[in-house]
Amino acid sequence: MLQYFPTPYPDELWYSVLCRYHIRTGNTTSAATFRELFGGKDHAALGSFLPNNLIFDIAGQLPDGTLDIEDIALNHTLFKYIFRFQPLENKNNILEMTKHGKINFPVKISKPYESMELKSCPLCMQEDFKKHGETYWHLSHQIPYVSVCQKHKCYLITRQREYKNELNNNFILPEYKDTDSADYQVSETELEFTKMLTRYLKMPLEAGPTDGYNNLYEGLLNAGYGLARKDMYYSVDYKRLSMNLCDRYGEEFISHHFGSIVLGAALIGQIRRWQKKSPEQYAILSMFLNQEPETTFSHTRIQNNTDRQFIEMSKSKIIRSKKFVAENLGVKETHLDNISHNLGIKPFWEQKPKTENPKSYKLALNLTKSEWDYINGCVNQYGFSSASGFIRYCVDEMKDRTDGITAS
Ligand SMILES: [Zn+2]
Repeated sequence: MLQYFPTPYPDELWYSVLCRYHIRTGNTTSAATFRELFGGKDHAALGSFLPNNLIFDIAGQLPDGTLDIEDIALNHTLFKYIFRFQPLENKNNILEMTKHGKINFPVKISKPYESMELKSCPLCMQEDFKKHGETYWHLSHQIPYVSVCQKHKCYLITRQREYKNELNNNFILPEYKDTDSADYQVSETELEFTKMLTRYLKMPLEAGPTDGYNNLYEGLLNAGYGLARKDMYYSVDYKRLSMNLCDRYGEEFISHHFGSIVLGAALIGQIRRWQKKSPEQYAILSMFLNQEPETTFSHTRIQNNTDRQFIEMSKSKIIRSKKFVAENLGVKETHLDNISHNLGIKPFWEQKPKTENPKSYKLALNLTKSEWDYINGCVNQYGFSSASGFIRYCVDEMKDRTDGITAS
């Protein structure tokens, strides 16, 4: 039985809690602490940033209720972050296994996460030292690819491991030096990326892939990257998207995280179906679109703007030119036919006349300049195909209004 165990600080890494336990015991060697904590074993997987059976083993040596295993797994390991894009069922299974000490790790983790170095912020350390009299490792600083302290907007300091499993044999807390100065030369991309990845860590466990749709994909379509395809939903103009992503974040950043400077159709398809499991690619699209994670993981699907506007415009009595409709929807004229087909709405823009030829009768109108300007203004503003189209609309309107009167 352990007599004492430190209460985790907010945003403290589980490994850090174990380190503080070691310091508090006053043991001069880590071997003594290993004997106490791990039943005589000389090493244990304490350096893991994911939950494992150690949490259960230690909780078992403490009076009931001292250590909340679920709280440790959710709020003191990178579990929620790394498993963010796994189905909820998988996440709940792992959580249950953790609570019962039956977790079957190591699970397959993608490469960049294998050798994670400990990171710390010099200013957070200063604050922690003042407030608690000791320093600790912050969980949110340990997210892979997070290079900046979100609170202080300065670079994190990375501690290089001496050997691969160093943390499993040693209790190492961040070293606080008065002289450490903060480096604020961080880029906008690094700040933005850090902010989004941190939000992916902090969201509740439930936030994750949604059934049957992906709001990031819908967001791309609404941002103007949609191509209307016949008998299909919209596809994404991946070439233009890739170009714009590179313009914004740089080719190196994009190729590092997407494997190439061009996000192919296949990759976008995988993202759309939530088949990619690491959070970074989703995070980059999310910051590019300025889409809040709450929207990304929302149980309400984002409405497709093009479809919505198409439906709205189809209800209007104005017969517009095809060019005007296409420009207003931000699509090519050829795509209008696809959308019309897919939505089952008949084309509502000007068609080639089938029966009576509107050119059969000609009329010379005498107008003032301001009347003529007004007509042309309406043609441009409302998208009539021509001045004739507008005057025909006025005639129809008049007919509509007076129909009741002449009938009575
Ligand atoms: Zn900080």
